[in-house]
Amino acid sequence: MSDKDERNPQAATKADLDVRAIESVRFNDLNRFLADKNAEHPCEACGRSVEWLIKTDDADHPFIHFLTNFRDPDNGNLFFSIMCPNCSNTRFFDAFEVARHLDLIGGTNGET
Ligand SMILES: [Zn+2]
Repeated sequence: MSDKDERNPQAATKADLDVRAIESVRFNDLNRFLADKNAEHPCEACGRSVEWLIKTDDADHPFIHFLTNFRDPDNGNLFFSIMCPNCSNTRFFDAFEVARHLDLIGGTNGET
């Protein structure tokens, strides 16, 4: 990452802090984001009104998916996902933007 402190490789970079904020998102936080953004419309693939599924780990954290940039494999983006229980269509939401909306990054709680 470009903002890494080369003199102190142990220092947390802004990117590290952003990832920690993303990792702190819980099931209810993602649901709040979806409600705030009115993002639970019927499935565009099968047309049904469904209860979207959010896969979580044992600590109630939604799964985080890492998609690498093909042109720069050392970089990529993190996403949360929701899946239609009828047809398995999956929607991805940029995890950084979700955390920012939840004020875990930037905004009122994320900046010092
Ligand atoms: Zn569907």
